Amino acid sequence: MENSQNLRNLNDLGEFALIEQLTKNFKLKNQTSYFGVGDDAAVISISKNDICLLSTDLLIEGVHFDVMYTPMKHLGFKSVAVNVSDICAMNGIAEQITVSIAVSSRYSLEAIEELYAGIYLACEKYKVDLVGGDTTTSVSGLTISISVLGRAKKSQVVYRSGAKEFDLLVVTGDLGAAYMGLQLLEREKAVFEANSKIQPDLDGYDYIMERQLKPEARVDVIQFFKELQIQPTSMIDISDGLASEILHICKSSKVGCHLYDKKIPIDTKTALTAIEFNLDPTTCALNGGEDYELLFTIKQEDFDKIKGNPHMTVIGHITNEKDGIYLIDKNESAIPLKAQGWKYFTSD
Ligand code: ADP
Ligand code: MG
Repeated sequence: MENSQNLRNLNDLGEFALIEQLTKNFKLKNQTSYFGVGDDAAVISISKNDICLLSTDLLIEGVHFDVMYTPMKHLGFKSVAVNVSDICAMNGIAEQITVSIAVSSRYSLEAIEELYAGIYLACEKYKVDLVGGDTTTSVSGLTISISVLGRAKKSQVVYRSGAKEFDLLVVTGDLGAAYMGLQLLEREKAVFEANSKIQPDLDGYDYIMERQLKPEARVDVIQFFKELQIQPTSMIDISDGLASEILHICKSSKVGCHLYDKKIPIDTKTALTAIEFNLDPTTCALNGGEDYELLFTIKQEDFDKIKGNPHMTVIGHITNEKDGIYLIDKNESAIPLKAQGWKYFTSD
């Protein structure tokens, strides 16, 4: 038996280091496996010019969602949207999903049908087909695993690894709202648990709640790229927070970056709610996650194509790897960018 003192604790490792540790020595065998682990989706060759994109996501009750404040229909929609988002992050179009569920007897048929109503709504919205899955019982709670298949031309696929020095760093939409929505729902849950006579006070917080409960995949942005003839040099979707995703792009592309604090797009309601919670709005945007916006880089010469576009904000530029990865704060001070992400393993 191994001496337990030599065993490493997963908490010390974190999610990304664990994935790397588990996959670093695996060599792809098949010619069709064009790109494996390390991006938002795997890339599978199907012909000379066409590829399939394959991605999967796991949602665990109590870790990724709380059924106390998450309507089942929203949960179904979100489970599909987050998968479609990973296909968008490769500049592809999602076409099929499989849905697997492990469900405990605590759930009624009606509840699971609601979950599927949300799944079907997302299938309608994103024009994807449900083509299979698996169903089993669980000892406790609900687990949802969705895999998505997408398509793209081989030449149009955008990886995390293509950012080059002087490229512009661009983000879609606004950031931090989903995290503030979660803070609000958690606060109201705590109030309700302390006194069930007090009803949740969510008036006026519609936007941030919607961003948490019903995020959208930016398929519209992929359409824009086609129409505006933009080929981003690198791209990732924002699931873990802006800081973490910038670090992924920089690590994969072997580049540095300057991110400008004052340019990060934050909705007014998000900022006001952050202040109400004694949180810094920028910190929420940097580390909050679950925005499912797209973060990408473009060549400077493409700037005119996005200039004035209300969906896209230039937030920084790519530098040489040895120059490092910095947040330039409101006083023009350069602070090394760190990923704080909330997705790391916790002991509870
Ligand atoms: P995303 O946030 O875009 O869903 P992840 O951070 O979950 O991406 O995963 C990063 C990369 O690691 C992806 O290529 C994913 O397929 C791969 N990956 C994650 N977990 C595992 C695992 N347990 N075994 C093999 N590959 C994994
Ligand atoms: Mg992703």
